[in-house]
Amino acid sequence: MEDPDAVAPSCMTQANPKARKQHRCCECGRTIEPGEHYLRVTEVWDHDPCTFKTCTECADLGSRFRRYVEYAYNPPFGCLFACMNEDSVTKEQLLALPEKYIVTEKTDDS
Ligand SMILES: [Zn+2]
Repeated sequence: MEDPDAVAPSCMTQANPKARKQHRCCECGRTIEPGEHYLRVTEVWDHDPCTFKTCTECADLGSRFRRYVEYAYNPPFGCLFACMNEDSVTKEQLLALPEKYIVTEKTDDS
């Protein structure tokens, strides 16, 4: 049996570009408006690149959640709210943490 922790993308890039057009957040489903920064992660699985766009609010929640449950990895994209439900963690609990997601690198391309 395979160790599920061993499953990782062969390549991952992360950026915080400014949206030039509308995007949909993969976590909350809201529209990321042009001019807004968002988190863009591209992962390559079996030579198949997939891009995940997350609004800064969900990126913030995700990093808080990871810290909160002492997770070594972020929850899978699109599963943040499901993971929070599973662990009975509310958004309010996470937002009460002092930590804030910090956009480290802002780029203009989208
Ligand atoms: Zn979102």
